[in-house]
Amino acid sequence: MDRSMGCEGSSVPEDRTEAGIKRFLEDTDDAELNKFVKDFPGNESCHQPEAKAWVSRPQVPEPRPQAPDLCQDDLEFRTPLWPQTSDSQQYFCASAPLSPSARPRSPWGKLDPYDSSEDDKEYVGFATLPNQVHRKSVKKGFDFTLMVAGESGLGKSTLVNSLFLTDLYRDRKLLSAEERIMQTVEITKHAVDIEEKGVKLRLTIVDTPGFGDAVNNTECWKPVAEYIDQQFEQYFRDESGLNRKNIQDNRVHCCLYFISPFGHGLRPLDVEFMRALHQRVNIVPILAKADTLTPPEVERKKRKIREEIEHFGIKVYQFPDCDSDEDEDFKLQDQALKESIPFAVIGSNTVVEARGRRVRGRLYPWGIVEVENPGHCDFVKLRTMLVRTHMQDLKDVTRETHYENYRAQCIQSMTRLVVKERNRKDRSRN
Ligand code: GDP
Repeated sequence: MDRSMGCEGSSVPEDRTEAGIKRFLEDTDDAELNKFVKDFPGNESCHQPEAKAWVSRPQVPEPRPQAPDLCQDDLEFRTPLWPQTSDSQQYFCASAPLSPSARPRSPWGKLDPYDSSEDDKEYVGFATLPNQVHRKSVKKGFDFTLMVAGESGLGKSTLVNSLFLTDLYRDRKLLSAEERIMQTVEITKHAVDIEEKGVKLRLTIVDTPGFGDAVNNTECWKPVAEYIDQQFEQYFRDESGLNRKNIQDNRVHCCLYFISPFGHGLRPLDVEFMRALHQRVNIVPILAKADTLTPPEVERKKRKIREEIEHFGIKVYQFPDCDSDEDEDFKLQDQALKESIPFAVIGSNTVVEARGRRVRGRLYPWGIVEVENPGHCDFVKLRTMLVRTHMQDLKDVTRETHYENYRAQCIQSMTRLVVKERNRKDRSRN
């Protein structure tokens, strides 16, 4: 039989009219026919025709003669009524879409939750979006800016080092009492890149040395507030500029405010600071050096501080409510976290031996206080909140609430200025 070659090693009928195809079918034995079906374009061994080949074809007059159904579901055999070309592949087209099991395996198999041969449901694939976002964010890395404020000597640097297991204050210079009296509030920044299981975090610690150290501490919160506003202003400028691609985000996401364990609740300076800053930053109050207090004292002080926060209308960072479908353990953990405010913490950068284990703690003649023992202090709760559970929420609140407030105020005052200027011009024209 005379056959032209369509795809390497397979034969196709030369006469492609209905009668020609019928003849081809009658004259061909089963084995040959099977080989033809197996080898012909559209099957795995030969590439499929491109969809655009159909688009550019001339209109086919109706009705079309029906061709015998030679192939499986995915292939349709049509008699060619448009001008013939030597490329026999044009007469086969893939009917779309292929069922998931018939589709080629995704190279991103591990990222594709539906990429399993058992799953025969039709799907578009947007279920992989979280994975795509995850990959992109991990590649980009994360940043977080934490501010610590409170009078010097309350254990701020020790706690920060204990929290992130780094030595961020290597080149800190401690001032003498005389120097501290003269010192004004300074703002210093320490940045460190931390990597954990392939996830990179650029951590920036903003310290406020000199805060509360002077004889007269009136308005010593001002430089801190100005610093926070400057970061918002810088971000606002960058965001409104031409190149918005690589904006460095220096906005302060959280401020740990250290409260002395030696006073009776909040001091006037604490109230003044928190009230001046609560609209600008997420404040998390900390009861410092909790090892200097007995457990009932810690409870009493915590209660007093909570009452005073309420009484003075201070808005400290509010933990978001749990979703109703969260499991009970998570809800209990969340409740315990909310009730721990202010977090009573202990800091230490030394490792001591306690009950045969090496732990981070403070060694006293009467015993050891362990930083990471939940029975001794709230250090683990604070670290869990700050790093594991609420870091993203702190960033979201900064962006959606504090920065938005700043931005709205900026736009409002800019608009006012423009209106004023226009009115002035109008008046001078008249
Ligand atoms: P900062 O000035 O607020 O940064 O305070 P430092 O971290 O430099 O700590 C001042 C002193 O307090 C140091 O001698 C620390 O060892 C000590 N210290 C830090 N944290 C604690 C704590 O939780 N409990 C006690 N008792 N002392 C602490």
